[in-house]
Amino acid sequence: MKMFTGVCPVCGGEEFSEHYVLYPELVQAWQLSTEEEAYINRQQGLYCHRCRNNLRAFALAAAILWEYGFVGTLAEFCVPSRNIRMLEINEAANLAPYLSRMPGHILMSYPQIDMQAMSFPDETFDLVIHSDTLEHIAYPERALSECRRILKKGGKCIFTVPIVVGRQTRARTGLAPSFHGGGNCRDEAVRVHTEFGMDVWQMVLRAGFSNGGIYALDYPAGLAVVAKK
Ligand SMILES: [Zn+2]
Repeated sequence: MKMFTGVCPVCGGEEFSEHYVLYPELVQAWQLSTEEEAYINRQQGLYCHRCRNNLRAFALAAAILWEYGFVGTLAEFCVPSRNIRMLEINEAANLAPYLSRMPGHILMSYPQIDMQAMSFPDETFDLVIHSDTLEHIAYPERALSECRRILKKGGKCIFTVPIVVGRQTRARTGLAPSFHGGGNCRDEAVRVHTEFGMDVWQMVLRAGFSNGGIYALDYPAGLAVVAKK
């Protein structure tokens, strides 16, 4: 299995720690096995000392670099001369300090932006990214279809969602409400509507993309979805 080792793909940092970030209510609501709990915690809790990004942000950054065929870190990739029209939805981890060095970068966050009905014209962007956002959207397929609409032909939507790899995707409709943000959190903005499984690519294709694949930096903890128009 592919395991992440070495340097941080965001900043090049070489020191990492892993801390426990899940909480019993979430583990219980998602009925996670011990193994699933361990890798989802690794995804969220393994972080770089220098840029403070976690493994899921590493996976997103590494997938972007991979797709652009760039050898180096995201920090090295993001230079003012790089001409990519990109939309970052809801600060994707702590990547904005780097991505914003590119003049074509736009960051928009909820509730300023409704992913299910975005105001951008068709075929505006080369790249749309988001990280652990889609699970909080009531109709995630509609949101992906909107991402596709605002992408130019050949454009890419690269994103992360928490993926439980041994399962099928399921909507939490009819189940007890579950929230990210701590044991007592009841904030509707971080309510979990969908639990994603390894069939996440099906939603990508249903949303109209030509290609939907999984990039693995670290399996199964550090995965990113790459959707191509
Ligand atoms: Zn780093």
